[in-house]
Amino acid sequence: MSIKMIVQGATQLRSSGAMLVAGLVVGASALCGANAWAADAASDATATAAATTPAAGAPRILVLATGGTISGTADPRSAIGYNSGNVKGQELVRGVPGIEKLATINAEQISNVGSQDMSDKIWFQLARRIQEVFDRNEADGVVITHGTDTVEETAFFLQNVLRSDKPVVLVGSMRPGGSTSADGPGNLYEAVEVAASPKSRGRGVMVVMNDQIHGPRWITKTNTTAVQAFASPNAGVIGYVDPASVRFVTAPPQAARNVLGLPANGQLPRVEIVYAHSNMDGLQIDHAIADGAKGIVLAGEGDGDASKEALAALERAAKKGIIVVRSTRVMSGFVNRNVEVDDDKSGFVVSLDLNPQKARLLTQLLIANGVTDPARVQQAFTGTW
Ligand code: ASP
Repeated sequence: MSIKMIVQGATQLRSSGAMLVAGLVVGASALCGANAWAADAASDATATAAATTPAAGAPRILVLATGGTISGTADPRSAIGYNSGNVKGQELVRGVPGIEKLATINAEQISNVGSQDMSDKIWFQLARRIQEVFDRNEADGVVITHGTDTVEETAFFLQNVLRSDKPVVLVGSMRPGGSTSADGPGNLYEAVEVAASPKSRGRGVMVVMNDQIHGPRWITKTNTTAVQAFASPNAGVIGYVDPASVRFVTAPPQAARNVLGLPANGQLPRVEIVYAHSNMDGLQIDHAIADGAKGIVLAGEGDGDASKEALAALERAAKKGIIVVRSTRVMSGFVNRNVEVDDDKSGFVVSLDLNPQKARLLTQLLIANGVTDPARVQQAFTGTW
């Protein structure tokens, strides 16, 4: 099911037919703030002029709706309550004033769930649909409306499995439609703006929230209710957007990276996250082993630490061929190898800057792609393999 929104003014030039499908380029883009700002300042003038002088051939943006607060409506019975997933993608798009000036927009409904119910099934559906649309050159960019709870995971998943340099922009909202100062319409407008911008080419998957553009490796939800809920603690935002301009403050990623395949059985392998705390024993870890986990991610204390008992249980897991990844429950910083824990001896992997939920996802994808040797898994976490 799709609607077509006829568009009057195109603000961005679409490179005619030159839809290069290269490997998705991702990774830690070098932060070259000053140069990037200068480059963007020069092209801002063009972008503003283009907005009032529409060019022929508007960018084609496909909106894929999955649910979340952005598709919710305020519940009159409670000041803060709402019903998730009441509004379909096409209505969402129609409700945003001026969005039709940015692009030719089609909308499709993939699911209508709170993102706490995001599943492998929906992920695979999303990934396949996006790849198909890009391979057939049916869109210049994709926008995914999504709940905010797990948007960082979906973004990271897609970044690892999509093969295209066209932009995929995920967007959500912290307040439902109909609430005071609903942030959904503004966020959706800006997400389409970013997806339609030529500046976004080669940047792969991004998340737009509250005037900021984040990279999937770094973004995380940092507040349960505030409109400014997202941050990228280890790297900062990759750009900013307002209704008149898209500004990137990092260079596009330079290195191409391997794209991981989707398992044919439609399901990612079982990988558990175990949360470390004081007075921790090894019971949860032993249960995960007994339940047949293929991987265990430790949401460790500090630099990925845990009690002696917990570490001993993790060693038992590693000896059985289960991939053990030490991540951290701390919001920022890296988990380094062999600091307080002898990772070499224990056969552990460290997550570096990946938080537990993203470390879990990468571990699942690697196992699904036959990468189970701890040294190769470690290499994949560095993003250099
Ligand atoms: N629970 C909601 C979701 O993630 C919250 C939101 O969208 O902000 O779908």
